[in-house]
Amino acid sequence: MWLLLSWSSVELLSLASMDPRSISISVKNKLCHVNYIDERLYINNSTDLKIIYFVTPTYPRPEQVPELTRLAHTLMHVPRLHWIVADDQPICSEEVSNILRRTGLPYTHISSPKPFIYKGTNFPRGVANRRAALTWLQENVNDGVLYFGDDDNTVDLQLFDEIRLTKKVSMFPVGLIGDYGVSSPVVKEGKVVGFFDSWPGSRLFAVDMAGFAVNIEFLKPSANMPYIAGHEEDRFLVSLGLKMEDIEPLAANCSKILVWHTKTVKYKKPTLRLDIKKIDSVAAYKNFASLLKETNRLGMASISENNGTKPFLTRNRKSFETITGLK
Ligand code: UDP
Ligand code: MN
Repeated sequence: MWLLLSWSSVELLSLASMDPRSISISVKNKLCHVNYIDERLYINNSTDLKIIYFVTPTYPRPEQVPELTRLAHTLMHVPRLHWIVADDQPICSEEVSNILRRTGLPYTHISSPKPFIYKGTNFPRGVANRRAALTWLQENVNDGVLYFGDDDNTVDLQLFDEIRLTKKVSMFPVGLIGDYGVSSPVVKEGKVVGFFDSWPGSRLFAVDMAGFAVNIEFLKPSANMPYIAGHEEDRFLVSLGLKMEDIEPLAANCSKILVWHTKTVKYKKPTLRLDIKKIDSVAAYKNFASLLKETNRLGMASISENNGTKPFLTRNRKSFETITGLK
């Protein structure tokens, strides 16, 4: 037993030191920044509206900044909203905090890396982040409405008006899920009687993460989201002690779609073979050198002197001037 334990920790440590983004098995969440001030002058923030706490798990990849930018530009239209962004990396990312700061929204920025053991395939995505957000909510908030919205979802502004009135737990359809095109509660005479979802998975509440909202007063200390892929929503709702008769159907008795489980095609990060220092040293190409550095900083391309694609510059309908030859 001792051998097994010491082997596994050595293994974890040595693997961890190979990948700078790896983390040890004991996860440490970090509160990066909290802003309670709503700086939006163009929004009528009537104080009798309940605050919506919009929880977004996110992780670093080439699409992170564009996904968060697009979501930010939806949330900026919503009055009385506090955005909790929990990032699956062990640092407080400058890129993420820049986006948050520029929204003018009240927000909480958390660094919440997933445990090392969940680095494989089919791991529960976004769970460490949502758990960290839940802990922050339980420690700091006792009134409002909780909604889990992933960084790649698409949300109709109408949804916010509806979920804001959630008394316990409200539910509604989510488009572009599984093999039925939609995942939704089925409503009969104003009550939820079952679920239309192509993956029942022996779940009591067969819903997507984006298909429900919770009144924070109903968020029990027992509230918990397990690290079990596919069962996060169901187990979370069960941990609240939710009963079928408690569910409040929204979106015209679950007949309309106000949120979609959109997915962005994964971008294969290219490596550009060029000597950035050399380009930077040509005064006339300072701006171009800055663009290359920005592209690299945002994780959209790597730059290497020795390998990768040799990029070309196009001029006069041709494309064979090498970047290295810039003068
Ligand atoms: N996510 C994360 N860490 C990961 C993978 C995903 O925090 O390693 C987040 C992601 O940003 C998203 C949510 O978890 O907000 C769901 O992930 P994804 O969209 O990849 O899963 P899918 O929607 O395909 O189930
Ligand atoms: Mn997604």
